[in-house]
Amino acid sequence: MKKTVVIGAGFGGLALAIRLQAAGIPTVLLEQRDKPGGRAYVWHDQGFTFDAGPTVITDPTALEALFTLAGRRMEDYVRLLPVKPFYRLCWESGKTLDYANDTAELEAQITQFNPRDVEGYRRFLAYSQAVFQEGYLRLGSVPFLSFRDMLRAGPQLLKLQAWQSVYQSVSRFIEDEHLRQAFSFHSLLVGGNPFTTSSIYTLIHALEREWGVWFPEGGTGALVNGMVKLFTDLGGEMVLNARVEELVVTDNRVNQVRLADGRTFDADAVASNADVVNTYKKLLGHHPVGQKRAATLERKSMSNSLFVLYFGLNQSHPQLAHHTICFGPRYRELIDDIFTGSALADDFSLYLHSPCVTDPSLASPGSASFYVLAPVPHLGNAPLDWAQEGPKLRDRIFDYLEERYMPGLRSQLVTQRIFTPADFHDTLDAHLGSAFSIEPLLTQSAWFRPHNRDSDIANLYLVGAGTHPGAGIPGVVASAKATASLMIEDLQ
Ligand SMILES: Cc1cc2nc3c(=O)[nH]c(=O)nc-3n(C[C@H](O)[C@H](O)[C@H](O)COP(=O)(O)OP(=O)(O)OC[C@H]3O[C@@H](n4cnc5c(N)ncnc54)[C@H](O)[C@@H]3O)c2cc1C
Repeated sequence: MKKTVVIGAGFGGLALAIRLQAAGIPTVLLEQRDKPGGRAYVWHDQGFTFDAGPTVITDPTALEALFTLAGRRMEDYVRLLPVKPFYRLCWESGKTLDYANDTAELEAQITQFNPRDVEGYRRFLAYSQAVFQEGYLRLGSVPFLSFRDMLRAGPQLLKLQAWQSVYQSVSRFIEDEHLRQAFSFHSLLVGGNPFTTSSIYTLIHALEREWGVWFPEGGTGALVNGMVKLFTDLGGEMVLNARVEELVVTDNRVNQVRLADGRTFDADAVASNADVVNTYKKLLGHHPVGQKRAATLERKSMSNSLFVLYFGLNQSHPQLAHHTICFGPRYRELIDDIFTGSALADDFSLYLHSPCVTDPSLASPGSASFYVLAPVPHLGNAPLDWAQEGPKLRDRIFDYLEERYMPGLRSQLVTQRIFTPADFHDTLDAHLGSAFSIEPLLTQSAWFRPHNRDSDIANLYLVGAGTHPGAGIPGVVASAKATASLMIEDLQ
């Protein structure tokens, strides 16, 4: 019987492994770390649970589909809790907006900023819904293997003015600068600069309005564990502490995967959820195809990195929402510094995660776990010494939060840890320490992105943030659908 190996147990790798195993193809999932999840790793520390990465769960239908296709019920594995409001947006001017899925409530808040923008918002929502239909529902999980596929999508992309940036297209409908920021920051959640990323990414707004924002009971790690259980219940095998070092190629086919510790796994097809640049540069570095692709990929623009600070307090902060965006004093200029700057800016904008608002079980009674992240340049643009810079940035962020959002924070601190671009590089093997892989520019999307199936090594596939459609849980789960459709067809 044909068997497959999937390298990497991020959301993309897991979703693909489930699809293959559910299709009756014996699959081994190899993960270099001691736990699955990838960017969605989990730390437990002194009674606190910290989800390392994704916390905003959108498109529950794509997750549910994995359980349904396997003949199971998602609620038997993990429960999703609704998050209200979706986000609280806060500016230094003191203005705030609770971004909720209730049209009347949202429009009432928009009126407070600028009454004329209510009508503009309605038109923006209609535009975002049209993009969502085309960009997500129709093309999100279709593999773009040939330029013909791109040409076919062309007319619709032109009609939707996909060459405009997210911010430009929001500004066509909305006048107020606060609201322009409120409806354009979303692309940052998948590593896209709102001023250069295609307006296709405005679809995130419609996606959230369509299916809501959710949080798994027990944290994002509980969703990862539910997916791992589904995979192993179906008979799949996951091997942890299994770092793949080489793809063994004979006659332009990968027939074996070799680990750093010497173990080998034979396979009829191999999919990599590992960093896309390093898949070619390191795992296939000995082969001309690997060398050729790596050289091309190293010229691509990578998404920004992140500085993440996890902390546990002996007190909760009920004044906070589950998700808070703390806009700093600058928007466009700061984003420019993050995507093209060679140093850390003096200011920052933050995303503050307060999961105990939705699920208090993530800390012991009376306590609460948090994380706060600041987008920062990747190591290619800013090759900083993070052992030096990390603690300094941590202190600046703690000061800022204590002054504006969380009074008494420092005296309530029980535990804290940081994760820097150097950790993305060293722990996840992320090229240049990028948090989201290849930047989602129009010229690096769809057919222009590394393909779900390699065009020279016919049984090598990609899944995850570095291939089509791109980063974010909905993106990588859609990539698994696209890749699985190719693999299942090829193997059968
Ligand atoms: C801090 C943070 C917050 C985020 N927040 C959100 C959010 O709220 N909502 C959202 O939708 N998205 C969010 N994202 C983006 C989202 O988390 C990622 O795009 C997505 O999880 C990436 O999944 P992936 O399948 O590409 O794999 P990854 O998570 O990158 O996993 C790849 C796996 O491959 C393994 N691997 C690498 N090399 C090897 C090797 N040689 N051998 C074996 N294994 C290997 C790695 O250890 C890793 O486990 C966030 C990202 C970060 C970093």
